[in-house]
Amino acid sequence: MIALGHAKGQTYAVFGLGRSGLAAARALVAGGAEVRLWDDSEASRQAAEQAGFKPVPLNDATLTGCAALLLAPGVPLTHPVPHESVTAAARVGVPVIGDIELALRERHPVVYGITGTNGKSTTTALLAHVLRAANRSITLGGNIGLPVLEQDAADTFVLEMSSFQIDLTPGWQARIAVLLNITPDHLDRHGSMENYAAIKRRIFNGQKAGDTAVIGVDDEYCRAIHAALQAEKTGRAIVPVSVERILPDGISAVDGVLYENGVRVESLSRFPALPGKHNGQNIAMVYAAAKAAGLERADILAAIATFPGLRHRLQKVAEIAGIPCINDSKATNAEATEKALACFDTIYWIAGGKAKDGGIKMLAPYFPRIRHAFLIGHAANEFAATLGASVPHSVSGTLDRAVHDALALAKSEKRPGAVVLLSPACASYDQFKSFEHRGDVFIKLIEEAAA
Ligand code: ADP
Repeated sequence: MIALGHAKGQTYAVFGLGRSGLAAARALVAGGAEVRLWDDSEASRQAAEQAGFKPVPLNDATLTGCAALLLAPGVPLTHPVPHESVTAAARVGVPVIGDIELALRERHPVVYGITGTNGKSTTTALLAHVLRAANRSITLGGNIGLPVLEQDAADTFVLEMSSFQIDLTPGWQARIAVLLNITPDHLDRHGSMENYAAIKRRIFNGQKAGDTAVIGVDDEYCRAIHAALQAEKTGRAIVPVSVERILPDGISAVDGVLYENGVRVESLSRFPALPGKHNGQNIAMVYAAAKAAGLERADILAAIATFPGLRHRLQKVAEIAGIPCINDSKATNAEATEKALACFDTIYWIAGGKAKDGGIKMLAPYFPRIRHAFLIGHAANEFAATLGASVPHSVSGTLDRAVHDALALAKSEKRPGAVVLLSPACASYDQFKSFEHRGDVFIKLIEEAAA
């Protein structure tokens, strides 16, 4: 645990008593601060009581005099409307921050930070893996793994930053900052694309000579940020990354080959646990960041080759009758599912859940790869309508039924190169607790079918 000594003698409010909120409360108390904490959910308040805290409602009276309100990243700071604890804090002049801010204030670590709409966890985990393989001691956290305040801190932090966490970290400053990509997502929580892009851009805040900005240049928002960074003349190094074209002055992953400054580095087939063009982007980002951290090319490549991949992201669970069964439960929107469909030619596709705006219409270019779609959850009828006459489909309703149906058809058709793919293009909440829960159920069903 990081005891927050800088908070000694002060009072902090904590709203949102999930794991990171409770870790922050403990770290504050260990540093000698007083905490006032609350959560709208009774179950969370009970968990806090079991951990030895006494929740008090946060309002103008209880927030007055607090050094800051510590907000869990899932709680609305601005959109669709600020949470009432946030408006109360604003009324009494109390700043609102997150747990990363507290950790940075206490430890002043060297920070490597990663953000983007998609690929954050993969890139962060892969960078951590590569750094650890080079015997670098790091603390991995943010939107991934354990809360940083719960860990024994190293001198270097590798942090996955959601836009919510960036918003809650005013003192953010990264030695190496990585922005992968920006596509529409979470607009309900950010108001507009412009606002969302502006928050992501803050991953580069405070950078100076000696620091490095690694930035994708394949979407219009990132390209605009890249141009703005170049105009800033801070003296930091700026490394553009593309999976669309071979850059003469950056890192590229094009047609299965990794390039550095236009020169071939390695075939991406060396990294089978990271398939697809999107993973090419993640690999290129990590290569750029690891280079900026001072690692040697050969060591970086050898370490990437031993990365096992992340659970629920194009994870090969098993082969049944020679048919790979792939768990991509993390694909909670159509953009993520597009990446999965692009990896295979003959797909028995399990999709559905709680649909996002636009559904699966944008996936139409990949429909010819879908041998049959097995639809589940709320979105089943909407998706069936989108697939229409062009893609064979059936409504399986539940995941266990869909797995059964998909395996039965795939086994009977015996098509070469076929896969069974769970890549739902939907949130999971209609039938599961989380995408992890959905993926775990899929893994269990596949393992049972393989036995
Ligand atoms: P995040 O942490 O940003 O949600 P993950 O690394 O967990 O990202 O990947 C989530 C999903 O997003 C993956 O299952 C994959 O479908 C897709 N994805 C991964 N990397 C990228 C990328 N670089 N660009 C676009 N999509 C990606």
